Amino acid sequence: MDFKEMMKAELHCHLDGSVSIDLLKELAKEKDAEFALSDQEIKQLVSVDDQCPDLKTYLEKFDFILDHLQSGDALKRAAVDVLKQGVDENLCYMELRFAPSFHGREGLSIKKAIQAVLQGMKDAKKAYGIESTLIVCLMRHESKEIHQEVIQAVKELRRRTNIAMDLAGDEQAYPTVGFADQIHTMYRLKIPFTLHAGETGNEQNVTDSIALGSRRIGHGLAMASFTEIERFASSQAVMVEMCPTSNLQTKAIASLKEYPIQEFMDEDIAISINTDNRTVSDTTLSKEFEKLDAVFSLDQAMVKKITMDTLRAGFMDEETKASLLEKVEQAYQEV
Ligand SMILES: [Zn+2]
Repeated sequence: MDFKEMMKAELHCHLDGSVSIDLLKELAKEKDAEFALSDQEIKQLVSVDDQCPDLKTYLEKFDFILDHLQSGDALKRAAVDVLKQGVDENLCYMELRFAPSFHGREGLSIKKAIQAVLQGMKDAKKAYGIESTLIVCLMRHESKEIHQEVIQAVKELRRRTNIAMDLAGDEQAYPTVGFADQIHTMYRLKIPFTLHAGETGNEQNVTDSIALGSRRIGHGLAMASFTEIERFASSQAVMVEMCPTSNLQTKAIASLKEYPIQEFMDEDIAISINTDNRTVSDTTLSKEFEKLDAVFSLDQAMVKKITMDTLRAGFMDEETKASLLEKVEQAYQEV
């Protein structure tokens, strides 16, 4: 099957980790006229391969990228750049996520950072027709004050644009249950949200996330083989955002053979397939499907179901959702 040709959608894509080498090079040259690293050298700085030894090495790859995403202009161009990558492999819908607090080293405010990415998403829609929704991340290691500021900015900007939220970062050191206040606030403000949980071997974070009202879970791997948690997820119509290559590279799983995609589907849990970080993981959504296909032999009906489930769980408005579902229905009829 030609996964690049098939219409797809993605919900779990970090903006910073997905900026293309081309744009990074452009931004680096604007910052320093003497900048002369080749594409291959930049790639070594910002990407891992399957030999990535651990999560620490993976996270270090963000240093160079974040150094070059410290202005509204850079963030806006990053959003266009990543959405264009989606267009190039036939994605009809993408959710981009980022932590605005990571982009203030040169004085950019949280609100301005969010506005810049929103502008890029608007520009990409105009240029390429791709629908997208922004997810703003709270980082687990940050203070409650920063979290309040981020939530406040989202609350204000949501009056005009659809924005969702997420909780990301080190879930071992900062378990989900410690963020009940923030999650309740999102709930009360009717801000849709997803939570990173169970990326590492911490199944309690998955249970707590669902109990706290999350109907989407980033990764969720840790609930594999815990049938009771899986049934809880299924009973609450939870959708799991799975990121195979990233999970291999950070050693969340040892091999794709043990990836619980079939197990989750058998327990009637909806799943989506995602890149997590296109550049850091050196992947595309088509590659993710290809890798899964090599181990699990996906058929077309399965890819269609995953794409439809992905859109059903999306944070876009209902009208956009209905028209995208219709578009996918048609695209798969023609195949
Ligand atoms: Zn993630």
